[in-house]
Amino acid sequence: MSQQFDVVVIGSGPAGYVAAIRCAQLGLDTACVERWRSESNEPVYGGTCLNVGCIPSKALLDTSHKFYELRRHFADHGITAKQSAIDVAAMMSRKNKVVGQLTKGVAGLFKGNKVTGISGVGTLLGRGRVGVTGADGAQQELRASHVILASGSEPVAIPPAPIDNELIVDSTGALEFDSVPQRLGVIGAGVIGLELGSVWSRLGSQVTILEALEDFLPALDRPMARDALKILTRQGLDIRLGTKVSGSRIDKGKNSSVIVTYEDAEGSKEAVFDKLIVAVGRRPVSQDLADSAAGLAIDGKGLVEVDEFCATNLPDVYAVGDLVRGPMLAHKGMEEGVMVAERLAGKKTQVNYELVPSVIYTHPEIAWAGRTEDEMKQAGVECITGSFAFAASGRALAAHDTDGSVKLVVEKATDRIAGCQIIGAGAADLLQQMVIAMEFSASAEDIALTMFSHPALSEVVHEAALAVHGHAIHKANRKR
Ligand code: FAD
Ligand code: AMP
Repeated sequence: MSQQFDVVVIGSGPAGYVAAIRCAQLGLDTACVERWRSESNEPVYGGTCLNVGCIPSKALLDTSHKFYELRRHFADHGITAKQSAIDVAAMMSRKNKVVGQLTKGVAGLFKGNKVTGISGVGTLLGRGRVGVTGADGAQQELRASHVILASGSEPVAIPPAPIDNELIVDSTGALEFDSVPQRLGVIGAGVIGLELGSVWSRLGSQVTILEALEDFLPALDRPMARDALKILTRQGLDIRLGTKVSGSRIDKGKNSSVIVTYEDAEGSKEAVFDKLIVAVGRRPVSQDLADSAAGLAIDGKGLVEVDEFCATNLPDVYAVGDLVRGPMLAHKGMEEGVMVAERLAGKKTQVNYELVPSVIYTHPEIAWAGRTEDEMKQAGVECITGSFAFAASGRALAAHDTDGSVKLVVEKATDRIAGCQIIGAGAADLLQQMVIAMEFSASAEDIALTMFSHPALSEVVHEAALAVHGHAIHKANRKR
């Protein structure tokens, strides 16, 4: 006999596990099917984000940042260490511990909220019907009043550089190197390429990032993107724009290496690396997610088609997270999970897709939300901007962390803040202040009239708001 639930969620990444917990909190009898499992056949929750994405990458970014600071900046503070070395095995074991703590934490939250975890591969069979195939091949069918699809995404592979998980790896393999490669190639200067390139560069790799596009970080404000490129290049990343990888071959000589062929403005060239990371984007996991008889609508990119409330074309079937349109970011999926759960419980919750913050966790961090100056111009909305550099902040100077700036984009007619871009230490947390401000439709004047504690990095945001109307205090070049 099949088990009956109010809600069955397929996938336990940030979109799926958050949806499951919120459904259970609202009194819905909820199950979550997850195919990721431990050696003992227990489901491992948390998806890409907790297992091979946000969390392990941040653990390695934090370790490598400390190492880089020790080598490059501690002496400026009068701190010297006779010897410094990176123990890659110890770094990985700390990272794995953090991951284990969090994935077990989700299992604990499921238990605490009475979500039934089910190990296996889930398939949508039809309205209210989910098939589950266990590790031993055993099949079962679950019945549910509502199904939430949250199977997430996986790395895109490209024919010029097939993954062999030895010399050519994807983002998952790049979180598992057992030593620091001397020459590291990265294909793709997107968020993942820059973060993983930074990790290994700080630990001593010579990192070359090959990016097909001429523009660096096209989603970012142009002057800010140029500044980010300058800062990252100064740190040692060799970022080559307008460089398209067309092939690769493995040299299995004494020291195995990868020879990459690429085309740039000057023609065809080769580069030799000890390891190559392919970081050219991610694609939704939608193949085999639904029985063809179910009739689930999937677009040409493999995204499950949904409306603004994440409803699919099938009644009582929803889809959230990386599986659907919008930026592939954990917090976007989490908010969608909450929205679907709350709407199932009769609430009128919505997601504000205009305000999805984006962060690149390099150092300094690069963070943005809302509209850029160019986007405002393209939309025909007159805007004014205010910028302020971290170099003029006492706190940034004291911390020896003066790279970057804050830029606010403000609608001229209303003074309402429409966008914010930040490059700087702690940019992710500083940006969040402006995301809250934008959610509350704050004006530049609202921020300018708010008292900020001194000395704090957030004063740079305050000064940027003052600069919108030409009266930043710690800036010589004032507008009149
Ligand atoms: P996923 O996390 O991909 O989870 C989907 C789950 O569904 C998986 O556990 C999978 O095993 C399971 N599943 C799939 N099919 C089935 C099936 N048929 N049956 C059962 N289970 C199934 N985002 C950020 O916001 N911040 C970051 O700092 C960040 N850093 C990242 C760093 C890296 C290296 C990578 C790769 C990604 C990063 N991301 C980051 C992106 C983030 O990981 C994703 O946006 C997020 O995980 C998407 O959540 P999701 O729940 O939609 O899918
Ligand atoms: P993202 O989608 O943000 O993860 O970034 C992936 C990046 O990889 C994009 O900027 C693409 O332009 C880049 N890219 C994709 N294919 C290639 C290729 N063959 N050579 C170089 N860069 C590539």
